[in-house]
Amino acid sequence: MESTLRRTWAEIDLDALAHNYRALRAQMGPEARFLGVVKADAYGHGAIETARTLEELGAEYLAISNVDEARELRLAGVGLPILQLGMTPADQTAALLENRVTQAVWSEAAGEAFSREAERAGGRLRVHLKLDTGMSRLGFQCDEARFEDSLAALRRVCALPGLEVEGVFTHFAVSDEDSEESRAYTLLQHRRFTAMLGRLEEAGIAIPLRHCANSGATVGYPQFAHDMFRPGIITYGIGHQAHLLGLRPVMTLKTVVGAVKAFDPGVTVSYGRTFRAERPSRVGVLPIGYADGLHRTLSNRWRVWTAQGPAPITGRICMDMCMVDLTDLPAVGEGDEVEVYGPRNSVNEAAALAGTISYELTCAVSKRVPRIYRKGGREIARELLLRG
Ligand SMILES: *Cc1c(COP(=O)(O)O)cnc(C)c1O
Repeated sequence: MESTLRRTWAEIDLDALAHNYRALRAQMGPEARFLGVVKADAYGHGAIETARTLEELGAEYLAISNVDEARELRLAGVGLPILQLGMTPADQTAALLENRVTQAVWSEAAGEAFSREAERAGGRLRVHLKLDTGMSRLGFQCDEARFEDSLAALRRVCALPGLEVEGVFTHFAVSDEDSEESRAYTLLQHRRFTAMLGRLEEAGIAIPLRHCANSGATVGYPQFAHDMFRPGIITYGIGHQAHLLGLRPVMTLKTVVGAVKAFDPGVTVSYGRTFRAERPSRVGVLPIGYADGLHRTLSNRWRVWTAQGPAPITGRICMDMCMVDLTDLPAVGEGDEVEVYGPRNSVNEAAALAGTISYELTCAVSKRVPRIYRKGGREIARELLLRG
């Protein structure tokens, strides 16, 4: 294990997670419940330790995006209510009930199937109704043309005997964008949401948990807190808005300088010979590659952060290794730790250079990279996701 750890690892700073949690709660006010979005292994941070920490901190709800993710949390002893945001095949209703999972219901047909299966299993499935107010993904469509039909369908779903309707929610498409057009669209989505809530209430249907705020809305529209908010990316202290609330990155992806080599001018580095030394060069070989989640599109674009500052990645990133230029960093030598992403070397910037978003880069940190959990300045847990 020690040798694995000296290769490439991800430090998960649970104090930063606690700081972010508190800052987000302060932003949304004391009334709104906190739903921690821990889908996709908590955006690559490790769902179990993230969920345990959020539970300890006082979060009220968690969300995942498939039944197995919920099962993993239950096996680890996580007791909080868990919302399954995504589609579950109705034949897995028994697994939802067994694992006490709240299911999103995205259409009348899905609601009917879940109700039938829940009754057959001798239970009642707790559900949150998903409204499509303009994301155009899952949900009952709430645009003007389909509003009345959706209202009628929602009323029928609420009367199904196998379901307990606990919540209703929607998801924003551009709540993290500042342009006038995006702001108008987000306000339109919210108007559709509240219009449907109003009509359901008029119909005598009281739904206790109404929620819509993702990270973007948490930052830009705290007035949309309703009964609960659902921040994902900013909980992890990343994304282009995290700095606006003084949040701290939770993950630091680290590796070491494995070997240092001297190259004469004209030497080319790595597959495809895309980097050529223009001067006598010192090049470090690092044990991290695209199989660890360092996207190959970052070849010749990104850098790692050393004790002396940035070292540019030179040549193509390989499956298990990459090379960095240490010529201007003479004090950096074999065995030294470097930061691939983290507080000094922002994954947001790497994502922009890779033509993607920070979400994709932290989700991509692969299962062979051990997660090391730190709290109060010391390591409290480690997790290696390889089959054992
Ligand atoms: C992923 C997801 C979130 C969290 O989104 P962020 O942009 O990470 O805050 C919230 N709600 C739903 C329905 C989601 O799928």
